[in-house]
Amino acid sequence: ITINKTIIISNRLPVKITEQNGEYILRPSEGGLATGLGSVYKDGNNIWIGWPGIEVPPERQAEVTDKLAELNLVPVFLTAEEINLYYEGFSNEVLWPTFHYLATYANFDQTYWNFYKSVNEKFKQAVIDNILDGDTVWVHDYQLLMLPYLIRTEKPNITIGFFQHIPFPSYEIFRLIPWREELISGMLGADLLGFHTFDDVRHFLSAASRLSSGKLQDNIILYKDRQVVVEAFPMGIDYEKFERLTTHEKVARHSATFKKSQKNLKIILSIDRLDYSKGIIQRLQAMELLLQLHPHLIEKISLFMVVVPSRDTVPKYRELRDNIDQLVGNINSRFRTLSWTPIHYFYRSFSVEFLSALYSISDVCLVTPMRDGMNLVSKEYVASRTNNDGVLVLSEMAGASKELNDALIVNPNNIGDIMRAIVQAIDMPLDEQQLRMSSMRHIVKKFNIHLWVKNFMDKLKEVKEMQQSLL
Ligand code: UDP
Repeated sequence: ITINKTIIISNRLPVKITEQNGEYILRPSEGGLATGLGSVYKDGNNIWIGWPGIEVPPERQAEVTDKLAELNLVPVFLTAEEINLYYEGFSNEVLWPTFHYLATYANFDQTYWNFYKSVNEKFKQAVIDNILDGDTVWVHDYQLLMLPYLIRTEKPNITIGFFQHIPFPSYEIFRLIPWREELISGMLGADLLGFHTFDDVRHFLSAASRLSSGKLQDNIILYKDRQVVVEAFPMGIDYEKFERLTTHEKVARHSATFKKSQKNLKIILSIDRLDYSKGIIQRLQAMELLLQLHPHLIEKISLFMVVVPSRDTVPKYRELRDNIDQLVGNINSRFRTLSWTPIHYFYRSFSVEFLSALYSISDVCLVTPMRDGMNLVSKEYVASRTNNDGVLVLSEMAGASKELNDALIVNPNNIGDIMRAIVQAIDMPLDEQQLRMSSMRHIVKKFNIHLWVKNFMDKLKEVKEMQQSLL
């Protein structure tokens, strides 16, 4: 008897590998996606294929492969050159900026593209080595856009799902990419294509109908005699975990320490990875304008701004970091008093217990990306507000704004708009806070990460059955 399995594939495996005294240490990662997909890849003979996150010399790859196998994980080893050109190059210097509407930041380098294709081939080989007829494949994200096509070519009948975790841009932006047709055919190898929002779906359908031979029928593309379904699956978080964390002893200790040090202050929180898509500069400008126009708020509010180091080998990111350093320095030196600092800036990552404490003690959470596929920080803040108080200020350019209607929604390019929303948040009566927060908590609780995984997998099965019934 053969039991069909599910293969998850993403650029990174859900594991952190470090080398200590010449030995590799594996720690499973606790990210939201890893948690959600845990119920899938840890089950039976299911596996997750991806890059282990570090460069492993050839003579030690067998050892790492064995250790990963115990966790149902299968590695794709990448050389330093491949990481540089496929990952940092094509993925993060071509696709990332273009898909976030910053095409002027893109570097359309032919070598990047060549490596993107060859590394996608490498992932395909890992899939082919592990796949049997009847298996289901779920490919994740923009680093692997060619993979559905590559698998389809070798395994025409296999069930392939694809989910993109970042936005899909308007056709007018997407068409700027020199390799646009290949990318669309790459994605159309899937049976089901998932995006966070309905707008992403629309944009993909529009690009696919112009750049491929596919014919549109509502949200279905008839492509090479196969129905490809395109649908929105807004990703959720592990709500229970964030709710539960607030009562954790460690979290309570962190919160108490905070409260003692910030008496009578309203705390505004922001948490992002270092990225130009996150609107960090504009948010700081809004804070500066606020302190200028509302001097009565001096010594009454503080911004706790956490920026998690990311992609610091890419020049644009280093430049952004320097600009943030400078702007924070300017604002703090201009407005600070002997006993008060307007902006507490942290360029580092924190434990989830510390993040939970920050979510708990903050009166306002400021999430103002220029573009964001979803934005999970906004949902984690909501899940952590067990008293139903606190105010979320949320960019209309974040996928989450489609679900979290009761946030104060702002245009992140409008500095005055952000500033007014902060003032409104600080002045908001408790009953209004509770009304808004409890309605958002219902949504985040219901549409959690587990339902997201279930909805996608159920739909994928349904699509395959529909295709077969039409044969
Ligand atoms: N996060 C983290 N460590 C930190 C700060 C944040 O792991 O020190 C997490 C945070 O809890 C959230 C994720 O990073 O789950 C950020 O996800 P989001 O969708 O907001 O943005 P992305 O970084 O994926 O663009």
